[in-house]
Amino acid sequence: MIDLRSDTVTRPTEAMRRAMTMAEVGDDVYGEDPTVVALEERVAGLLGHEAGLFCATGSLANVLGVAQLVGAGQELLCDEKAHVVRAELGAHAALSGVTTRTWATGDGRIDPARVLALAEVEAGPYLVRTGAIAVEDTHNLAGGVVQPYQRLVELSRGARRLEVGLHLDGARLWNAHVASGVALAEIGQLFETVNVCFSKGLGAPVGSVLVGPTERIAAARVLRKRLGGGWRQAGILAAAAMYALEHHVDRLADDHAAAREFARAVEERASDSVDPAAVETNIVILDAGPRGAAGLVEAAATEGVALSALGSGLVRAITHLDVTRYEARQAGDVVGTLLAGRR
Ligand SMILES: *Cc1c(COP(=O)(O)O)cnc(C)c1O
Repeated sequence: MIDLRSDTVTRPTEAMRRAMTMAEVGDDVYGEDPTVVALEERVAGLLGHEAGLFCATGSLANVLGVAQLVGAGQELLCDEKAHVVRAELGAHAALSGVTTRTWATGDGRIDPARVLALAEVEAGPYLVRTGAIAVEDTHNLAGGVVQPYQRLVELSRGARRLEVGLHLDGARLWNAHVASGVALAEIGQLFETVNVCFSKGLGAPVGSVLVGPTERIAAARVLRKRLGGGWRQAGILAAAAMYALEHHVDRLADDHAAAREFARAVEERASDSVDPAAVETNIVILDAGPRGAAGLVEAAATEGVALSALGSGLVRAITHLDVTRYEARQAGDVVGTLLAGRR
């Protein structure tokens, strides 16, 4: 099976497993795990921030970050297809008392002026106050698009002027960095809090890091413990993330090339279902055609290609560490042939 459902399906490599077994560890609730501390400092430094907090998941890091910027009874503004509003099972509302208001885009790229115009900062006792704006980069459900850097700069300036917080869901910020060539710190510094994931394209088994100002990260550490997210010898996992930082960032360019290869193979057989030129990173979204998304996913699975359905009419393929460019091309041949109706 060529598994293109998600970049979370990767398994740690032998070398990563070796790094994990060799990790120096301690009790992280006491702040005594040297590998966790090293990872938190390293990631904070890479993103141009003061402090970091290693978390089990990106959803947890998003909840902790947003809770530092948005109080109970306030709102978070985000894209209507953002992970924070679609895929975190209402956590921000259920756990933090945060409501969300969304904007729509055609292509997933933010429009700073429009987003800033939505912010409600001086509504007195009449309207919900905007605590923060969340941006996703790359944007998963929009097809892995990279947020244009100048637009992020403009959004950041505007949010500061309005005194509205700015959170970056950078689950795939590594992909945005590799695709755009913009330094991680250049992007990271525009935001007050940033979540980055190690269990997606970087191929670690578990883990995300939230970065931000020292006091906010200290408060996030307390909330993490309150939610049951304190852990002990987590250095075993931090070692995998450290290994991924050393060895799996630059190679994301291979995943991006494989995704384009997949899209080209599909387009050669079914030109209406995808535009390879629109593929910027490791995610490809296809129009499932008359079979529908569930039908295409099922048909592809019987031919040895695993995809995921996005609603009723779209299908997503994601390339990653465990899929070669050759396999991506093969998968594209299979899916393109199905879409062309010849199988
Ligand atoms: C995967 C992902 C997350 C975090 O997901 P977890 O499964 O909780 O680690 C957050 N944001 C985006 C855009 C993601 O794709």
